Amino acid sequence: MTRTLHRPVLIALLLGASLPTFAGSGHDHHQHNAHVHGEARLELVLEGNTLEMAFHSPAHNLLGFEHEPRTDDERQRTTAAIATLKKGDTLFSLDGGDCTLQEASVNQQAPTDKHDKHHHQHSSDAETHREFEAQYRYQCTAADTLRRIQIDLTKAFPGVEKITAEWIFNARQGRKILSGGAATIEVK
Ligand SMILES: [Zn+2]
Repeated sequence: MTRTLHRPVLIALLLGASLPTFAGSGHDHHQHNAHVHGEARLELVLEGNTLEMAFHSPAHNLLGFEHEPRTDDERQRTTAAIATLKKGDTLFSLDGGDCTLQEASVNQQAPTDKHDKHHHQHSSDAETHREFEAQYRYQCTAADTLRRIQIDLTKAFPGVEKITAEWIFNARQGRKILSGGAATIEVK
């Protein structure tokens, strides 16, 4: 598996550091990995002049289904969703910073949470879950002037009803629930 983005950094910062602001419920780790249709997660890390974002969503939010595509229509919807996910410049609007999208990648994977009650061998479509993970890397020439980031993911994907956004901007942590149309995260 090729990991061209600095994924380990993102994971270490957001999960490994046991961030005080995220430690409100003792079950945050499960919330990070929960696979709930309608919900998604967005992680943002700004380090120096590099901004990285990772968007995690159940495939159902983006496609309306989670099984392997079987029909032409399902294959087209999958292709279209991946193409939309890669268009970071239409999903995110950066105010200031003079940032350029360097790279966008999309992966599909099984959810990271385990459905313990489904450990038996039999598997049907109803128990099949799939997730998309999209990663973005922006390079900025003046990151200190980056004021805010507008997130249009819920506009691009109406099936995404709620996004839990968590960020670390130069060691400053934050968290916000995004829902309903365009949402803005203040960087400064
Ligand atoms: Zn699912």
